[in-house]
Amino acid sequence: MKQLRWSVRMRIASVGVSKFCFLFSLAFCGLLLLLIPTLQPPARQADLPQPRPQVRPAQTGPSHHARVPAVSVLTDSPTGLNRSSAGQGRITGTGVTRNSNHNPKRDSKRGSQPGGRGDGLSGFKFRDLLEFKDVFIAVKTTRKYHKSRLELLIQTWVSQAKEQTYIFTDSEDKELRMRTGVNIINTNCSAAHTRQALCCKMSVEYDKFIESQKKWFCHVDDDNYVIVPSLLRLLSSYHHSQDVYLGRPSLDHPIEAAERVKSDGSVSVKFWFATGGAGFCISRGLALKMSPWASLGNFISTAEKIRLPDDCTIGYIIEALLEVTLTHTHLFHSHLENLQKLPTDTVLEQVTLSYGGFENRRNVVSVVGGFSLTEDPTRFKTVHCLLYTDTEWCPKLKPRHKN
Ligand code: UDP
Ligand code: MN
Repeated sequence: MKQLRWSVRMRIASVGVSKFCFLFSLAFCGLLLLLIPTLQPPARQADLPQPRPQVRPAQTGPSHHARVPAVSVLTDSPTGLNRSSAGQGRITGTGVTRNSNHNPKRDSKRGSQPGGRGDGLSGFKFRDLLEFKDVFIAVKTTRKYHKSRLELLIQTWVSQAKEQTYIFTDSEDKELRMRTGVNIINTNCSAAHTRQALCCKMSVEYDKFIESQKKWFCHVDDDNYVIVPSLLRLLSSYHHSQDVYLGRPSLDHPIEAAERVKSDGSVSVKFWFATGGAGFCISRGLALKMSPWASLGNFISTAEKIRLPDDCTIGYIIEALLEVTLTHTHLFHSHLENLQKLPTDTVLEQVTLSYGGFENRRNVVSVVGGFSLTEDPTRFKTVHCLLYTDTEWCPKLKPRHKN
């Protein structure tokens, strides 16, 4: 009897123990389930960097690209709108990546920091480092400007980017090539200032870039100064495999043109374009996608179909056909804007500069340096000497006298 009671008690006890074990393992599993999300490694951020927005508004008033023909462009609003209300959300600043040109002190003058903090260094990632050899800079020129414009560029910024710069002209100039050692390409395009001639040059520029295998295509005119360290800094904040189209719109609204590529011209299409007179850049990834409408002479027929100049045609292919948006940047400058308005302490941070208006009112950037306005009417030499103080022809700073 006693034994029976003992075995019953034992059975009850063992049932209690297994019940306890069962409940315990249930609770343990529940706890594990709860912990799983927190034990997982943090999700990786998107692979491609997005440049941070810049707070400072555009410096210039509305500009109008002289080369947009009124006949084929139907604008939807009067020009002269407040620039700040147009495309404000698309204005971007430079991102910063690690390169030898990075200058935190200079960055601190910008409206906002790449990392969103005050030190200019936090928050940005070191990615695929951009080397200067990866950039292709096309300069458009013509025979009559070889002496008056090109020589100045070769003396100044091109000397810092000889391997990367390709000059597209319309005549042979062996003497210039031999003397300076720069890449000069005779496009054999007409030397006229017509839409066809300019599109012919752009078409050759595009093909040469594709052939070059470089990562970035940048186009400038022969009255642009390229601030090479700023250009590198800007491009470094994007990736060449992203779809990137960077430049300054010449209008404060998109242009509208009859759609004659995808349809019969009965409908119109609106798109932004970067003004060629300020320069623009396109990533290789995007340039490759442009190929059906841009390579091997197709650029000329696309421009003919929509009857627009070269820079508008680039915008049309990118925005209207490929549906990639122009990234508006105010770091590119043409002489269609008032260059004097650019604050002196920000001039060296810009990506491109220009000059114009010698006939009436001089339109040049305001910089103070070793050359007077008469010695350096474009201000390009002065800018160059501020950037590259060691240049042999730059005025040397007078040594300070010790008392
Ligand atoms: N240009 C050209 N062929 C010409 C005239 C000009 O290739 O017959 C080039 C010139 O070298 C420059 C660009 O077109 O790179 C714009 O010319 P310009 O600065 O004279 O005119 P704007 O800036 O007023 O359009
Ligand atoms: Mn010009």
